[in-house]
Amino acid sequence: MTADLVHGPQHPHAPVLGDQAALDRARKLAAETFAARADDYDRRAAFPAEDFEDLFTAGLLAAAVPREYGGLGFGPQQRNTLPLWDLTTTLASADLSLARCWEGHANSLVLIDALGTPEQKRRWFAGVVGRGEKWVAWSGEPRAPKPGETSRFGTALTPVEGGWTVRGTKAFATSATGAQWAILFVDPAGPGGARHAQPAPNGRAAASGRAAGSELLMLACDLSDPTVSVDGTWWDPVGMRATVSHLVRFDDTFIPRDHLIGAPGSYLSGQWQSAFVPHYASSFLGAAQAACAYGLAYIRKQDKGADPYVRQRAGSMAVNVDTARLWLRHVAALWDEGRVDEARIAGSKARHAIEHLAEETVHHCIRACGARSLVRPSPVERILRDLTFYQRHDNDDHILATIGRAALGDDHDPSFHKP
Ligand SMILES: Cc1cc2nc3c(=O)[nH]c(=O)nc-3n(C[C@H](O)[C@H](O)[C@H](O)COP(=O)(O)OP(=O)(O)OC[C@H]3O[C@@H](n4cnc5c(N)ncnc54)[C@H](O)[C@@H]3O)c2cc1C
Repeated sequence: MTADLVHGPQHPHAPVLGDQAALDRARKLAAETFAARADDYDRRAAFPAEDFEDLFTAGLLAAAVPREYGGLGFGPQQRNTLPLWDLTTTLASADLSLARCWEGHANSLVLIDALGTPEQKRRWFAGVVGRGEKWVAWSGEPRAPKPGETSRFGTALTPVEGGWTVRGTKAFATSATGAQWAILFVDPAGPGGARHAQPAPNGRAAASGRAAGSELLMLACDLSDPTVSVDGTWWDPVGMRATVSHLVRFDDTFIPRDHLIGAPGSYLSGQWQSAFVPHYASSFLGAAQAACAYGLAYIRKQDKGADPYVRQRAGSMAVNVDTARLWLRHVAALWDEGRVDEARIAGSKARHAIEHLAEETVHHCIRACGARSLVRPSPVERILRDLTFYQRHDNDDHILATIGRAALGDDHDPSFHKP
């Protein structure tokens, strides 16, 4: 869709943004406003609240809400995947932390679109479109303590009249101080969330990567509930600081039954995580784009482009960025064409390739520019820290092994890449 304005199906007189116009708006905001705010958010480890306010005002916050509910209809569920990933890349080129918070929001909306009831969609999409409500999805319950770690993460679920109560803690709770709603991934069998749930009893990954019959629930939690509290003392990481991925406590938080999204186990059986794996790579591409742009400007400013080694690093950065873009375009087309099995494994390949392309691009930039590129103020100093940390979100060794299993025709888990 290239027209600037189109008309949404349910609001025949209300002009909504066309895909290209939306992306142009996002690029302008990212370049002129978000990039300038990123350093301050990073130093204060503060949620990018003003950026989200601007996204809302610009009509972009509901990008992953279907058009019939007043959104832009971006994302794999709407078979309009590339605009969503392009938007994420654009935000990440300004601020990787912003992009992580954005991904959490957009992925949650994709899940509600795919698995929510019509009533849930009406209610929750109206909050995003009309009131600028922000969403996120929280699984994070790492089970094995690190050296010196005394607290344990994990939630327990108790069925009560009209719903459930959740007790316990989740870590890596992105947007903890910024979002209004979180989709909690809670395993009724005990702590572990989605990512850290136990694999199938025979030790092999089932098609879903989990024991068949796992009843993992997705529960929409209103974060203004007084039984939900944020522990700000845990989150002091090397990068991605503005994601405010704090430790969050649930003190018998009541979740009404009509806040259950999808059937129990549907996140795992539907392999939904595999739709989000390449979305992370879109953010990595944004980091690479920003490092490449900064590097080229730096080289020109210092007039050292005639050096053959510097020239080669500039060339490598350009090839890497284009390669990453082509990967994402390929995977997005598979989702949009409904070639889901191919899309899933291609998404893991893209995630693997783009992690390395982005990392290498940042290092080419640093080597071509020199030490001062790592002295603040410099976006590359922050990108290096952010990317180093963000890439740990998934284990690249396991991703590559998953790709190898698929190539060999063996069972594999394209969602969580379980060994
Ligand atoms: C910036 C950022 C934001 C995040 N935001 C969210 C969010 O909003 N929602 C959310 O749900 N999660 C989020 N996550 C959390 C993420 O999904 C993981 O849960 C988190 O990275 C786990 O921490 P860890 O790497 O220390 O975990 P660990 O489980 O300790 O894993 C550490 C490494 O060891 C590997 N490993 C673990 N067990 C074994 C084993 N038995 N054998 C071999 N290798 C093993 C893992 O694959 C991994 O590479 C975020 C992570 C980051 C970095």
